[in-house]
Amino acid sequence: MKKCAKCKEYKDIDFFNHSKLNKDGLQSWCKNCASLATKSWYKKNRNKMLSSMKKYGKDNRKELNNYYVEYNKDPDHKRKKAEINASWYQRNREDIRKRQNEKNRIKRENKVNEPN
Ligand SMILES: [Zn+2]
Repeated sequence: MKKCAKCKEYKDIDFFNHSKLNKDGLQSWCKNCASLATKSWYKKNRNKMLSSMKKYGKDNRKELNNYYVEYNKDPDHKRKKAEINASWYQRNREDIRKRQNEKNRIKRENKVNEPN
């Protein structure tokens, strides 16, 4: 049995989470108190956490953008990208043509059906 430092109740050691920080290898709060504390902490800090996460995303986005700008400036990368695009086009030429034809057909049909 161990006394919970929070609710002051004696509980079986099964009711305590393990902790390497404590001498007895168990947390001083019982599982129940610990989970309640986590929940209330989360409730209290949710907005803070969310806004800091948002800020983090913003800061990172800037960095990411910079990264892509620099990356795109690289002439070697430009060449590679062009090569990739060209080979992709080669492979999908038929599909692209078919899709374009289909689009044109739909457009034509819509025009016919549209009252002026
Ligand atoms: Zn407790």
